[in-house]
Amino acid sequence: MITEPRPTPPVVAILGAGPAGMSCANACLSFGLRPLVIERSDQAGGVQRRNFHPNLWMLGWPGETGESLTRRMVEHYASLPIETRYQTELLGAQRGKSVFRLSLAESGGERETIQADAIVLATGMHPYATPELEDLARRSPRVIIGPLSHTIRDGIQDADVLILGGGDNALDHALFLAERRNRVRVHTRGTFAARATFRTACAGREDIRLVENSTPLRLSAGQEGILAAWPGEELRFDWLLVMYGYRPNIELLDRFSPSLRPDLTAGGHVHVDDWQRTSTPGVYAAGDLTAPAQPSVPTAIAQGLAAARAIERDITWRR
Ligand SMILES: Cc1cc2nc3c(=O)[nH]c(=O)nc-3n(C[C@H](O)[C@H](O)[C@H](O)COP(=O)(O)OP(=O)(O)OC[C@H]3O[C@@H](n4cnc5c(N)ncnc54)[C@H](O)[C@@H]3O)c2cc1C
Repeated sequence: MITEPRPTPPVVAILGAGPAGMSCANACLSFGLRPLVIERSDQAGGVQRRNFHPNLWMLGWPGETGESLTRRMVEHYASLPIETRYQTELLGAQRGKSVFRLSLAESGGERETIQADAIVLATGMHPYATPELEDLARRSPRVIIGPLSHTIRDGIQDADVLILGGGDNALDHALFLAERRNRVRVHTRGTFAARATFRTACAGREDIRLVENSTPLRLSAGQEGILAAWPGEELRFDWLLVMYGYRPNIELLDRFSPSLRPDLTAGGHVHVDDWQRTSTPGVYAAGDLTAPAQPSVPTAIAQGLAAARAIERDITWRR
């Protein structure tokens, strides 16, 4: 009896193992695709790994924190037959004759080239700060850029805290810190854009002061803490938290050959259609780096799933 050789499943290279990447890899398995996940850090899970706040948007686990939700997702992910390269960076991506060729470098220095039938970008976002504030944070451990650090959760109590920023993260953290006996001032350069529930909750507290249209003229950090100066006023704080928002992790696109680089939106996110296809055939994107209307774990999971479905439709029947 002659048996036909089994076709090898199309390989999907997924960059990033946050909720979007993990969900896409999981969905690839059910659509007969072979996921190969490339993650820069040493763990899967993405930004929610450090989220000590309850996740309000995942139905079914009321009150569960982002950390705990992520632990469950990562345990499930680790039990699946998914090849994952941790602490691995993409060095380059080119289109070969019929497949993509991705060169990778592991943190140990080992290099390899893999072939993939499709690529999914799922690298999320990173907190943004000006170069001056980044420099201050490098010089002082009392300057923290972005939310969700364990220092914020455990290390700031009975202190004077300055938060710069006017979005949800700024006011959510102001409330969190005020509940831990801290005195908090939040300065934003425009008006507060945080959701109304946070604005109302902050406005009702004596230990939180919200100041609009105000950027410090000068900031310095030393033994005596953080000094912040405004016209006619200089104040000392124990901590400075910078909550300016997030920028998409798209720097790896510089390592794509120019013809493979997908179009970006005006805000610098990866532009996708309803099926998570980018402008480059064979390249898809899911999760926060696509600027969804409401970035969240459920949104990232849904987009990862949709990307896998699109790949199955676009690729499987072509081979
Ligand atoms: C403070 C805060 C609170 C939030 N609260 C909630 C909430 O309560 N509920 C909720 O549902 N959502 C919440 N979110 C949003 C949620 O965390 C994100 O929408 C979700 O994590 C997006 O998933 P992602 O997979 O797109 O990206 P991420 O979770 O950012 O994962 C991206 C992954 O890609 C990796 N990566 C980055 N660059 C590279 C590279 N070059 N190569 C390889 N890998 C790379 C990263 O290491 C990471 O593992 C919150 C976000 C923040 C910041």
